[in-house]
Amino acid sequence: MKITQISSSKIKDIDFENLDFGRIFTDHMFVCHFRNGKWETPEIKPYQALTIEPSASVLHYGQAVFEGMKAFKDSQNKVWLFRPEENFKRINLSSKRLQIPEFPEAHFFKGLEKLLALDQEWIKPGEGNSLYIRPFVFASQPSVQASAAGEYIFMIICAPVKAYYSGGEISVLIAEEYSRAASGGVGFAKAAGNYAAQFYPTSEALKKGFQQIIWTDANNHEYLEEAGTMNIFFKINGILVTSPTNDRILDGITRKSIIKIAKKEGILVEERPIKVSEIKEAHESGALEEVFGTGTAVVVLPINSFSHQEKTFTLPKGTPLANKLKTILMGIQYKTLDDPFQWTRSID
Ligand SMILES: *Cc1c(COP(=O)(O)O)cnc(C)c1O
Repeated sequence: MKITQISSSKIKDIDFENLDFGRIFTDHMFVCHFRNGKWETPEIKPYQALTIEPSASVLHYGQAVFEGMKAFKDSQNKVWLFRPEENFKRINLSSKRLQIPEFPEAHFFKGLEKLLALDQEWIKPGEGNSLYIRPFVFASQPSVQASAAGEYIFMIICAPVKAYYSGGEISVLIAEEYSRAASGGVGFAKAAGNYAAQFYPTSEALKKGFQQIIWTDANNHEYLEEAGTMNIFFKINGILVTSPTNDRILDGITRKSIIKIAKKEGILVEERPIKVSEIKEAHESGALEEVFGTGTAVVVLPINSFSHQEKTFTLPKGTPLANKLKTILMGIQYKTLDDPFQWTRSID
């Protein structure tokens, strides 16, 4: 791997107390080109603008996928990744569905480790502080032919972050018109276009005072599937319930970690389809105790109300289970708690 270091770091100009999520990037980036049927030798170089042709395939047909992962610093300033092999597997799963060539594992981990070693000053210790890592791959071939490209660029860029939503809890709108994903589609993949298609319905919901949309099945809008770009959990009568993953639901790493932690804490977990009518009835009877979303950026995010057919359902104040699961997961990530599942991996 060729490494070109920056001559002077921008880090001294960064206000780490007031970071706007995903707007500030570290000094270096990882780049690897796919040309002539193979991935070339990767490179690490100063973070900088790219030059691509206006005909680059991704700009026309959206052939692009990405990942989101985090690095943490413990109290001894050691850098840790959380289940990075899951992100690696998933970006290749997404790539495969988008007809993008899979990326070699050795390149991914070497690149990640070198990049984090170079930019480790950007990772601040202390709970809430982390480095958001964004691997992504896109079709770079200059061609407007409507077929899979022959050239791609795989990159990793990193952004120092604090907590994602500053507000804490959110109000959500249950989708009755729009859909995020359909059977046989790309909902399970972290395809760039999945996000693009959510922006309009979400901005309409924002105008009505909601922060996110709860996506329902595309057939009848009858089943609850995901909360914006998070997986969704309900605590009903003491049982934690979440939709099973399938080709419409993203297999979240936070989701599966929360399920493992909850089970270890002795909480009953059910992975089964959940109807909108079920949570409305559970709310009515007082059985619905908590609703929360999970994802790498937010970790666990409590939902304080949901609306459906013009009616708003407000949840009980306080989310003890969401808080407990979040505390345990973050304790594992920041190395303040034991890691019984061996999820963390240091970078040296
Ligand atoms: C990334 C993502 C999630 C969360 O996955 P994590 O691995 O927990 O970060 C959930 N839903 C969608 C649609 C996503 O894109």
